[in-house]
Amino acid sequence: MKTIGLLGGMSWESTLSYYREINLGIKAELGGLHSAKIAMVSVDFAEIEALQHLGDWPKTADILTIGAKNVQAAGADFLLICTNTMHKVAEQIQAQIDIPLLHIADATARQLQADNITKVGLLGTAFTMEQDFYKGRLSEQFAIEVLVPNAQQRQSVHDIIYSQLCLGEINQTSRQIYLDIVEDLFQQGAQAVILGCTEIALLINQSHTAVPLYDTTKIHASAAISAALTD
Ligand code: GLU
Repeated sequence: MKTIGLLGGMSWESTLSYYREINLGIKAELGGLHSAKIAMVSVDFAEIEALQHLGDWPKTADILTIGAKNVQAAGADFLLICTNTMHKVAEQIQAQIDIPLLHIADATARQLQADNITKVGLLGTAFTMEQDFYKGRLSEQFAIEVLVPNAQQRQSVHDIIYSQLCLGEINQTSRQIYLDIVEDLFQQGAQAVILGCTEIALLINQSHTAVPLYDTTKIHASAAISAALTD
């Protein structure tokens, strides 16, 4: 079994989900007392969040590159950045390390392709919903058309992530806001909706809606399990 590298803490609420999903997956595959080999570095999200909102992405890349190098030095065979948003600096990080990066958007796109989904809604931070590093990758590299919520809805989705979900706060009103937006995207022609922020599955899951949801945390964790168990 290979050692899975995790760059987490963004936020730690979702890194917990990664740790759990990966270990449950390895246990399901190998049985008994088997658990995942993991090398993890967890950053202080307050520092990252402040830089994101200042637009200082180069500084976030510097901090995350140090973390990624430490994950590599701890023996990881490949790396997962445990957030969608920080894949904005994935290329800069990859350029500074020798182990491969398992990209969250690629893992998600492959799952969508396997399910014949070509038009999809995307929920995430404003950075993920509005900038090209994520949507562009899905459309250019995988021919998947991406629909995002309107400006007011994007603001609500973004605010709920930072002011509630990353603090572990689960609120019924926020759940309804998200579910209404999921329904809107479906009405506009999305065949499914990507939960493109690793905390969103803490708020909504498949039991809340008939619209197919693609939980990026689960998909990314599952891709890591497969990679760890493949020679
Ligand atoms: N975990 C979230 C994501 O997947 C948001 C936190 C962050 O900005 O990294 O995008």
